[in-house]
Amino acid sequence: MYNVAIIGGGPAGIFTALEITKLKPDWKVLLIEKGRKIEKRVCPIREGQKKCLSCKTCGLLCGWGGAGAFSDGKLTLTPEVGGHLVDYMPYNDVENLINYCDNIYLDHGATQTVFGTNKADFADIEHAATLAELKLVHSPVRHLGTEKSLAVLKSMQDYLEPRIDIINNEQVEELIIKDNVIQGFTTREGREYLAEYVVVAPGREGADWLSKQFIKHKIEMVNNAVDVGVRVELPAAVMEPITSRLYESKLIYHAPTFGDEVRTFCMNPNGEVVNENYNGISTVNGHSYADKKTPNTNFALLVSKKFTEPFHEPIKYGQHIASLANMLSGGILVQRFGDLLDGRRSTPQRIKESIIQPTLECATPGDLSLVLPYRQLLSIIEMLYALDKIAPGVASRYTLLYGIEVKFYSARVLVSNELETLGVKNLFAIGDGAGVTRGLIQASASGVYAARVIAKRKVL
Ligand SMILES: Cc1cc2nc3c(=O)[nH]c(=O)nc-3n(C[C@H](O)[C@H](O)[C@H](O)COP(=O)(O)OP(=O)(O)OC[C@H]3O[C@@H](n4cnc5c(N)ncnc54)[C@H](O)[C@@H]3O)c2cc1C
Repeated sequence: MYNVAIIGGGPAGIFTALEITKLKPDWKVLLIEKGRKIEKRVCPIREGQKKCLSCKTCGLLCGWGGAGAFSDGKLTLTPEVGGHLVDYMPYNDVENLINYCDNIYLDHGATQTVFGTNKADFADIEHAATLAELKLVHSPVRHLGTEKSLAVLKSMQDYLEPRIDIINNEQVEELIIKDNVIQGFTTREGREYLAEYVVVAPGREGADWLSKQFIKHKIEMVNNAVDVGVRVELPAAVMEPITSRLYESKLIYHAPTFGDEVRTFCMNPNGEVVNENYNGISTVNGHSYADKKTPNTNFALLVSKKFTEPFHEPIKYGQHIASLANMLSGGILVQRFGDLLDGRRSTPQRIKESIIQPTLECATPGDLSLVLPYRQLLSIIEMLYALDKIAPGVASRYTLLYGIEVKFYSARVLVSNELETLGVKNLFAIGDGAGVTRGLIQASASGVYAARVIAKRKVL
């Protein structure tokens, strides 16, 4: 019997473990993760494979470090983006938690440099953004780079290994709940683990599993907005006036025709576009390395849409659009902006004649208008024109659009201000999978917070 069992070894789960071992060194703690140890994680595409093989457990998203492991580790040091923690606690408390987690990343070897702290640079870009009807969110960023990110996570794994039980390659299947109190869980491998407190932190990859479990146990959830869009890739020179000063710019726009919010997300100067696999569905993402540079910059454009009654399945909606892209292209689809506007598909020849070459070589040239609903597609086009005003060249005919990028944090678990589920005692739901956060630093902060709440409670 464990005092605390944590499901998921992403930042939310890891930081729960780090904090609980600090506050309660004598407690028995388990962290269970369906993927591999950090040093054993592999993604065939990263090893040179041309197409995503839809591995049973995606090496890019699962394993120690979670979805963050192969990300380039941009820690956005503000409560403004990357999650909803301010809905559960005062703004200052979130700021303090973020600083606290940032220091832990530093203790484990994170890079010292923080981008976006120069007020004059921010004011300059904000001025240009305002004239283009874009809102620039102030978000200082500590950039680790993929290689550094892996080293930091390895250091955390080394620190925790002698202090808690860590089980890899085992997938939690069923939560055990009795009289509205969590008891533990069973795994697909047929084992049962009992614990007084359970913290579920399965990330976006596990969001679908989590929502099914919660529906089964009648634990309440609300719809978050569904974020669907494309990954944009262009010559690094186009974004350089912004990325050289802010590294990442978080820009928000309300597209005029439908009024939906479109935002830039996860900007990767000199980075590469990557393919990820959510239980058989291929979606697109991006990252950059600290040392290895490509001539391109990529970022996501996500259109947020919140559904109202009677629709309750935002995750399925996102999956459906992504599967359409998969059906047409065999995986990821790429189209030049000019071809989209001309109403024709991109072809390998047209891409070859461009001034920019895709970094995701396995993407199939095609037509996004056959995949994205008109509402999202038009909002993306309008956003590209708005961005072109502050970074001329964004709306170039050569700009590449990859589909589909979708964020599966769309169902938010109803939790108390202590991140404990409403209705099931001692069960905490944190991180991206619970819809509470959507970035590394807030996911980490949610883990620290849950650990502090649990540490104040009684154990047998
Ligand atoms: C390519 C890429 C780049 C990114 N770049 C950035 C960035 O630069 N900055 C940023 O802030 N964010 C970035 N993100 C997002 C960031 O990685 C996530 O916000 C963060 O990892 C969420 O943390 P989490 O712990 O909630 O979930 P995750 O990191 O997704 O971890 C959840 C873990 O739970 C495990 N799991 C799921 N279900 C089960 C189960 N049933 N049983 C056992 N284990 C289970 C999974 O295998 C996974 O390892 C990026 C994401 C990707 C994919």
